[in-house]
Amino acid sequence: MDNDQARNLWEKARPIYLSTLPSLEEKEQMDRYFSMISDIESNGDSLVFKTKNSMAAEIFNKNYSERIKGCLMLVGADPSINIIFTQDESFAERIFVPATENKREETEKEKTDANEKQPAFVSTMALREEYTFDEFVMGPSNSYAYSAAKGVVSHPGEKGYNPLFIHGGTGLGKTHLMQAIGNELKRTKPQMAICYLTAEMFLNEYVNYMQTGKLPLFREKYRSVDLLLIDDVQFLQRGKVVQEEFFNTFQFLQEKNKQIVMTCDVSPKNLPQLESRLISRFIGGMVQEIDSPSFETRLAILKKKAEAYTPKIPDSALEFIAENIKSHVRAMEGALSKVRVMVSTVPGEQLSPLLLSQLLKDFIENEQTLKKLTIEEIQETVAEKFNMRRSDLISQDRSASVVTPRQLAMFISRKFTSNGLEMIGTKFDRKHATILHGVKSIQKRLDVEANLRIVLEEILAEFGLKLSDAKDI
Ligand code: ADP
Ligand code: MG
Repeated sequence: MDNDQARNLWEKARPIYLSTLPSLEEKEQMDRYFSMISDIESNGDSLVFKTKNSMAAEIFNKNYSERIKGCLMLVGADPSINIIFTQDESFAERIFVPATENKREETEKEKTDANEKQPAFVSTMALREEYTFDEFVMGPSNSYAYSAAKGVVSHPGEKGYNPLFIHGGTGLGKTHLMQAIGNELKRTKPQMAICYLTAEMFLNEYVNYMQTGKLPLFREKYRSVDLLLIDDVQFLQRGKVVQEEFFNTFQFLQEKNKQIVMTCDVSPKNLPQLESRLISRFIGGMVQEIDSPSFETRLAILKKKAEAYTPKIPDSALEFIAENIKSHVRAMEGALSKVRVMVSTVPGEQLSPLLLSQLLKDFIENEQTLKKLTIEEIQETVAEKFNMRRSDLISQDRSASVVTPRQLAMFISRKFTSNGLEMIGTKFDRKHATILHGVKSIQKRLDVEANLRIVLEEILAEFGLKLSDAKDI
């Protein structure tokens, strides 16, 4: 097998691996890991995967090589083949090149030479080229976050924009917008040292460096960047020690007027397991939310994505998707690519609403979980979780062990169904003011009681929901 055949094999195996993952989030996460693979070489009876840093090679060798081999076999690889991940040496010196002070004293000529040899662009994870401002559709749901991101690009590191904290539900464009900042600054200020990674990677990497006794290296690395993009900071909640490290890095960078951008699936005040000094740092800059897009924005996003497709996807099909898939832009994209495959494999097929609803059945069903959830189902599920009967939740029993589950059920009914207070009141045999009080009480407790939040997340998970999907009332 030659190198081209090896690359070819991986091109086929990669989508198969991704298709085995159950959720879109996991697919995305894995796809990001895969983007760390820089090249593949065939070496006798081994396939050598080159990765952009040693950390990634280690992670792949340890956790994913078996499964990757399985997928490669599915597309024709010999079962006796060895899969090896190693760091791509040509990336070694490109990573973590700090934009040092003395570099600024070099002549223009030297500067360009240096840039050509060693782009200052540093990154543990590659930015996706297509995540640009141009590709991002602005609408009322994201205009503030969009303007703030643009603000960072024109005033990186300046007070007021530093840090920028973007929050909102999954699949609404947080990562896209964050990477657009990175891509734009990489273009306009090529000497800037840019680092993009998820908080989860920051955490894993920290643990790794700690175990190998190389923490000073870790510190040096993150303190040498000009722009730090940290995606999904909710993951920092998993570790106390890493929060301390993050705080120090954060403080160091901010003092030097280096720009920090973060995304999160909830607002800073809804991160109960995060140190309060971190939270106050987060809200000390600019905090912007991305909301679910309106029909017009959804349609505009679809039109933008489908612009270059041949054969063309009819507007009526785009409208169908925009009408029926409302919660996630990511789900809309999934639906769009299904339609795209259909249009190119069966050209000329009339895309009737009936056909579309069959084709997109899974996506549409997913959407309807939110709408179809009934108060009775919620009561049933909550009661079961607390080992009680549904009638206990409706009873007049005021003992604390019943009040909390009851109020949780009220909270879920209010935040995750379209029922009003009156209707919920009827189902709980209570006045609407009591429902309102219950909802507020849970809301308040969630900010301080991590355990309650965990229980609630567990209950929501049974409905395939997350707390961040809650209606904002
Ligand atoms: P999040 O990080 O909030 O979970 P992502 O940034 O990964 O969401 O977005 C999911 C997908 O939806 C991406 O492919 C992104 O390009 C697309 N997307 C989200 N919002 C927009 C938008 N306003 N315009 C264009 N594409 C969008
Ligand atoms: Mg994201």
